[in-house]
Amino acid sequence: MINARADLNQLVPFKYEWAWQKYLDGSANHWMPQEVNMNADIALWKRQDGLTADERRIVERSLGYFSTADSLVANNLVLALYRLITNPECRQYLLRQAFEEAIHTHAYQYCVESLGMDEGAVFNMYREVPSVAAKSAWSLKHTQSLARTDFQTGTPETDQELLRNLVAFYCVTEGIFFYCGFSQILSMGRRNKMTGVAEQFQYILRDESMHLNFGVDMINQIKIENPHLWTPEFQDEVTQMILEGTELEIAYARDTMPRGVLGMNAAIMEEYLHFIGNRRLAQIGLKEQFPGAQNPFPWMSEIIDLRKEKNFFETRVTEYQVGGALSWD
Ligand code: FE
Repeated sequence: MINARADLNQLVPFKYEWAWQKYLDGSANHWMPQEVNMNADIALWKRQDGLTADERRIVERSLGYFSTADSLVANNLVLALYRLITNPECRQYLLRQAFEEAIHTHAYQYCVESLGMDEGAVFNMYREVPSVAAKSAWSLKHTQSLARTDFQTGTPETDQELLRNLVAFYCVTEGIFFYCGFSQILSMGRRNKMTGVAEQFQYILRDESMHLNFGVDMINQIKIENPHLWTPEFQDEVTQMILEGTELEIAYARDTMPRGVLGMNAAIMEEYLHFIGNRRLAQIGLKEQFPGAQNPFPWMSEIIDLRKEKNFFETRVTEYQVGGALSWD
């Protein structure tokens, strides 16, 4: 998985069947943002009485955070991680994932453009809105040392630095930071509001759950192959990282939901994020830190398992044209 001396260009024989299978599964899920019909969203967004101020805030904050977050993930993959993960079938998945991150950034841009939102305000939120900026800064901090061109793995310290990056991006950024915004937008879609944006988010969430699972498999494989890295001190440090991520996401929930909205509120979201935090810890073999936390949104797991065919059949844009954009007015 890391520090291999084998030929990097020979894909077969596979060493990690799970990595190749995820590459095939990710490719089978291929979709593009323009395939989703945004007409109902545009009509609702333009109407003065279409959404409440609290609902609009959620749409704006979500697009603000996500429009740059997937770009942070893509840059980390291509500029930091790809060089250091030496197994060919894992690299094949990383290439697939990198394109999916591009599609996700495209999807957010497509929502912003369709709704006629202020692009500058949305794309600058990761610098200007504190609850958004805090999450992005936390992720960026963990990409820095690996992105240095002279960084190499091969010592326990540098191998642990790579593991920190994997935990920061797969378990925390993609595994925790996406979950408040995703459940808010999907709850909106379940209430028949902003259904196009919600459908984009459904496809993104399905891709993201695979990114997360791939990251968890990589972390666990590196642990199996390098048990000396997973010291009690390092386990404490990783637990702390996941706790920090959970706290930042709870702060984002409070900022985006000053009052109850869409059948949710910040306290229920906190319970959900404790449940998610526990799962991330358990997935990499660490002790759960929020005893008894329950999932208040069981419908989220159904959405993650969504079947593409059924959904596309119901809502596909019939005038879809490759290489051109639909005109909405
Ligand atoms: Fe992702």
